[in-house]
Amino acid sequence: MTESTARLVGAKPIEVVVMNTLTVNLHLMLTSFYRPKHKQNKIIIESGAFPSDQYAVASHAKWHGYDPKEVVLEWSPRSNEDRLYYEDLEKLMSDNQGEVSLILLGNVNYRTGQAFPLQKIAKLAHENEAHLGVDLAHGAGNLELKLHEDKVDFAVWCSYKYLNGGPGALGGCFVHEKFAERFDLPRFEGWWGHDKVKRFLMEPQFSPMKGAEGWQLSNPPILPMATLRASMEIFDEVGMAMLRKKSEQLTGYFEFLLHNLNVKGLRILTPSKVDERGCALSLAFGQSGKSLMEKLNSEGVKCDYREPGVLRFAPVPLYNSFRDVFELGEILKKYVG
Ligand SMILES: *Cc1c(COP(=O)(O)O)cnc(C)c1O
Repeated sequence: MTESTARLVGAKPIEVVVMNTLTVNLHLMLTSFYRPKHKQNKIIIESGAFPSDQYAVASHAKWHGYDPKEVVLEWSPRSNEDRLYYEDLEKLMSDNQGEVSLILLGNVNYRTGQAFPLQKIAKLAHENEAHLGVDLAHGAGNLELKLHEDKVDFAVWCSYKYLNGGPGALGGCFVHEKFAERFDLPRFEGWWGHDKVKRFLMEPQFSPMKGAEGWQLSNPPILPMATLRASMEIFDEVGMAMLRKKSEQLTGYFEFLLHNLNVKGLRILTPSKVDERGCALSLAFGQSGKSLMEKLNSEGVKCDYREPGVLRFAPVPLYNSFRDVFELGEILKKYVG
């Protein structure tokens, strides 16, 4: 499982562990990687971040005695736009020079489908002595990731979205190799993170395992491990490179059909550049979004609705075909064409 997980996110085996669920792992990571010092106490998140991420960072701000309104900053879109620009993040960093401790981003953003340039952002964070953490709920199993090479400090993900682990499936966690032996980093400790060789000696002193496994707390639930393992075997068999290749074509085809439909007032929130998105396209239909969603559901289309008026369509390369996308286009034509 460790090897497959490492391959999936572009990591070394020592950098990954399958444990807990996403938000739990995020809290464990924030405990170690949000270490505010005097003036350097700010966290940057993307505006419209997934609520759990917003709650998690706000609660850590409070835990350290700060008002989240003062220390949590948002990287926001320009007026009347949905996408975020790297240059604006750079500006936010320089406007808060020496004060940012952590950048935490959802990659891919769950609402707009925008993917961020992690390598560039990690470099920006490190130049400012800040850390970069990434929530890969919509990235793992969707993008071809290179977490090690990109020098992301930590990442967390769930495996019941693109990884098909089933509801309540176990989450994953990445901690860059450079922290593998940083035993001085404060962390929440549990016996399952203790040196494997000595775990059953039941020593009173905690001596963490090297790498991401040193953040484990409890012994893992075996049944959810088994379902995830079955899924990871499929990912291993095909490989992310092949999946991504088909994914780009599949989503490109969907985009082409949408442009041909020429729907009045339809806004595609997701960037049109292939390297700035995963497989999903988020479409804003305004007032008619909700009723359209219901009509699509009645035709057997499985998509997802987010207020206000946004429908997310994710042609997944592992099990969706070009024919599925064609048929979706035909159904859309019926209602909005
Ligand atoms: C789905 C999702 C989560 C879910 O968190 P859990 O702790 O697994 O319930 C978190 N973050 C993002 C961005 C998500 O899309």
